[in-house]
Amino acid sequence: MAIKLEGIGSSEGIAIAKVFKLVEPEIIIPDKKITDAVKELKLFNLSVQKTKKDLINLEKISMEKLGSEKAAIFGAHQQILEDPEMQKQVTDLVNNEKINCAKALEQVSKQFQAMFTSMNDPYFKERASDIKDVTNRLLKYILNLEVLDLATISEQVVIIADDLTPSQTAQLNPEFVKGFACDMGGRTSHAAIMARTLEIPAVLGLKTIVKNSKHNQSILMNGKTGEIILDPSKSEIDSWTKQKELFLKEQKELLSFKEKSTHSKDGVKFELEANIGSLKDVDAVLENGGEGVGLFRTEFLYMDSDHFPTEEEQFGAYKAIIEKMGNKKVIIRTLDIGGDKKLSYFQFPEELNPFLGYRAIRLCLDKKDIFRTQLRALIRASVFGKIGIMFPMIATVDEFKSAKKIYEEEKNKLIKEGVKISDEIEVGMMMEIPAAAVIADKFAKYADFFSIGTNDLIQYNMAADRMSQFVSYLYQPFNPSILNMINLIIKGAHKHGKWVGMCGEMAGDQYAIPLLMGLELDYFSMSATSILKARKIISELNVSDMKELVQKALNSETNDEVLNLVKKIYN
Ligand code: PEP
Ligand code: MG
Repeated sequence: MAIKLEGIGSSEGIAIAKVFKLVEPEIIIPDKKITDAVKELKLFNLSVQKTKKDLINLEKISMEKLGSEKAAIFGAHQQILEDPEMQKQVTDLVNNEKINCAKALEQVSKQFQAMFTSMNDPYFKERASDIKDVTNRLLKYILNLEVLDLATISEQVVIIADDLTPSQTAQLNPEFVKGFACDMGGRTSHAAIMARTLEIPAVLGLKTIVKNSKHNQSILMNGKTGEIILDPSKSEIDSWTKQKELFLKEQKELLSFKEKSTHSKDGVKFELEANIGSLKDVDAVLENGGEGVGLFRTEFLYMDSDHFPTEEEQFGAYKAIIEKMGNKKVIIRTLDIGGDKKLSYFQFPEELNPFLGYRAIRLCLDKKDIFRTQLRALIRASVFGKIGIMFPMIATVDEFKSAKKIYEEEKNKLIKEGVKISDEIEVGMMMEIPAAAVIADKFAKYADFFSIGTNDLIQYNMAADRMSQFVSYLYQPFNPSILNMINLIIKGAHKHGKWVGMCGEMAGDQYAIPLLMGLELDYFSMSATSILKARKIISELNVSDMKELVQKALNSETNDEVLNLVKKIYN
């Protein structure tokens, strides 16, 4: 019998594939003694062979995808696996004390881990976690548990998990991973943003898919409506296959908008840009007719590294992106770390509410060396194209002024050092905290531009955690309180002749676009894959009509009331 589930459609597209369940099985070590040591050691050796095969494969895949440095870890894992001393101790415990091999391995592994943990050298300390990793993989084979590896996926699957971390999603190969479905998260969680970047469908906030699904089961998934069918019937598969073909056809038709500029039906010009996380996202921006990059989330540069990236490393990364974008503008956001975005090499303070805590510009204004290094790299890279720099999570005018002052200091130092820099760098800020939004006109005296981050602006305005599926109903971009706040931001900027973009997920929402046109937003920045559809929508609407629509929306009472108003114009 087919099982139907509904979650939050988070990345458009239709997937027809098999389930790949990314759920780590619980490892329970049996306590019982054995009678046949020969048989037990045969099981142990066979499991070692299986583990070795995995590690060789992982080394090969990481070498191709991530380079030799990252691949070396799996070579080290093979050495741990075949360490003669560890193997001897396990064999002795099985032979002499009739301890089952899982328990023997656990015991020996723990001793080795403790030995490494007690060493002073951080390199050797780290080896304890490698031993644990290898041991867990080996134990899973011994206990006949499932061993799952994202990097080794080589058939068409939809990944099912509680949640996917940013580093897990970064490893996915869209050639085989046709989508993912998670119990947690929603449209603005990082898994969703990554899915749109990779151009694969995603449904999040499903709450019960992990419980209800089985590995290898057939699955149909619609990343727009949030519908999922497990074990579909033949007729369901046929009808979804037709829907998928239709979706792909529509995508093809949109290509005619690729080379066009963005104008409303009554001739008002807008600009459509893309959000990116790294150099590899730039191809998609250009392929989808992006007129620039409206948000480069630099935190991924830090998250993909095992140390704070040096000025040279950052300079290289920024230069490559700016050059690749040619004469199109790139807006780069300074480090927005904290909340759910952690670094392996930096200890964040323990806080009850990290989303409301020590993060983004707050951290940068405290750890100024980190901030200065990034600003120097950015300013140096500015000569290779057109850039804007913006600061995340600005709550007060003083914060903006402090950040800008540090920027000016670094700029002046570079000029004194004789380094060539662009004289057209714009310095702006994210508008994502209500405290800043309601007095946007005050900030507009100092900032060159605003970029509205609706993912956080909505989260903070509604006091609703963007990661929690329990309060996801409060992600309400059409709530009149949000629209009035956006209105204040845009009016505040225009009063001082400054421009406003939006880089939160709302900017690419087909129902939000008409309202944002009426509110006179200047730049829309979204997932590259949403650009062509947005351009088509804008080309079919008059700004003068949208201004009337906005007046009604601003005076409405609820999210649904506004949404229904917009839906009418599509009918
Ligand atoms: C936002 O908050 O809307 C935004 C664009 O930033 P992020 O999603 O990276 O927090
Ligand atoms: Mg944000």
